[in-house]
Amino acid sequence: MPDKIKCTVTECQYNSSVECVAPMIQVERNHSSNANNSDQTKCETFKSKNM
Ligand code: SF4
Repeated sequence: MPDKIKCTVTECQYNSSVECVAPMIQVERNHSSNANNSDQTKCETFKSKNM
């Protein structure tokens, strides 16, 4: 398990200074049943700061 998760999605509620501070994140396939590259994955834990 990584000590730190760097994330540049600063519009997420869990983002603090380009780091993810969520206790756990869930990553899923994105529009794919068999991912071949990172574009086919997504962070499901993302929550907009505007909500
Ligand atoms: S929950 Fe996902 S999108 Fe949000 S800061 Fe963490 S890694 Fe980034």
